[in-house]
Amino acid sequence: STSPRPFNFSAGPATLPEEVLQQAAAEMLDWRGSGMGVMEMSHRGKEFTSIAEQAEADLRTLLAIPSHFKVLFMQGGAIAENAIIPMNLSRGGVVDHVITGSWSQKSAKEARKYCTAKLAASNEADHHTTLPAHGSWQLSDDATYVHVCSNETIHGVEMHALPDLAALGSTAPLVIDCSSHIASRPIDWSRVGLAYAGAQKNIGPSGLTLVIVREDLIGHALPDTPSAFDYQVVADNGSMYNTPPTYAWYIAGLVFQWALKQREVTPQGELTGLAAIEARNIAKAQLLYDYIDGSGYYTNKVAKDCRSRMNIPFFLPDDSLNAAFLASTQGAGLLQLKGHKSVGGMRASIYNAMPLAGVQALVDHMKQFAASHG
Ligand code: PLP
Repeated sequence: STSPRPFNFSAGPATLPEEVLQQAAAEMLDWRGSGMGVMEMSHRGKEFTSIAEQAEADLRTLLAIPSHFKVLFMQGGAIAENAIIPMNLSRGGVVDHVITGSWSQKSAKEARKYCTAKLAASNEADHHTTLPAHGSWQLSDDATYVHVCSNETIHGVEMHALPDLAALGSTAPLVIDCSSHIASRPIDWSRVGLAYAGAQKNIGPSGLTLVIVREDLIGHALPDTPSAFDYQVVADNGSMYNTPPTYAWYIAGLVFQWALKQREVTPQGELTGLAAIEARNIAKAQLLYDYIDGSGYYTNKVAKDCRSRMNIPFFLPDDSLNAAFLASTQGAGLLQLKGHKSVGGMRASIYNAMPLAGVQALVDHMKQFAASHG
């Protein structure tokens, strides 16, 4: 097409790199001379096996995943994992949950069906706009794991460093729901026991869930665990115990290749891969937050030390302006900016595939709107 695509600020399913979509379109009818589209391939054939193995290898490179972690390509989304994780890791005992917003709240509620989920810390009194200080976390001696959501997609709160549980006196592994910021920055695997993420933000289409788990933690599933959700079974079968979401896995692989190719020239030199992506994400978020804070018109209520680089909720001076703002952005080629109903206002999700030019276009438009509706 000749005209550029609009910039899409959806929280998920979210915008994907245009090169990835174009490559998928070019390969739709005939993947590399095989005579088949990827959707039409047996997951056990040599073509899909090569796609699957390459995707895992590229993800391991991109995120520097140590070899003692298994990478599982699952279905059910992060919400299903809220049940699958306690089924696999809790042994029906005690687990600790840190509440920082809607998603971590949902995780704790679901875990209670399978084990004793204790509240270790919460930012509820601050309406989920802060993060509870690590020193205030009340960790159980007997917890089988500690669960956090490292980026709260709805409230726009991000843990810029993962907690060091050992330093807090806990020997439990850390479980992170990193659905909405996976692959936006490096992960310190020395602090993580299990990381899980729905694909539909930074990875690819919905329908695929990534579970990256330290191999010593699996093999203890509760007896009622469905075989398809038993991490040991999934791992032993290379994520092909049941038919995996093959097309989503393939697109994820294209996204990983795209990510590995990224380059960013910074004052510190040229960065590549995840480092380039992180530098760009920092620049994008700073552009938008600096504008909001200095505008005297728009506001973001999240404490500065835990503002998300990925999901940026913001408010107009008066809710009566929301409809006019949304109509104006739509007309300007800036899509899906409506905030989540539980927070209100607007939300700009600026995942890896959103270029700096998209954030600049949003800021330019916000300036114009403020000038004409002041
Ligand atoms: N956790 C987080 C942090 C999310 O952003 C989402 C978003 O959709 C979910 C969980 C739920 O994922 P799913 O709908 O794929 O189960």
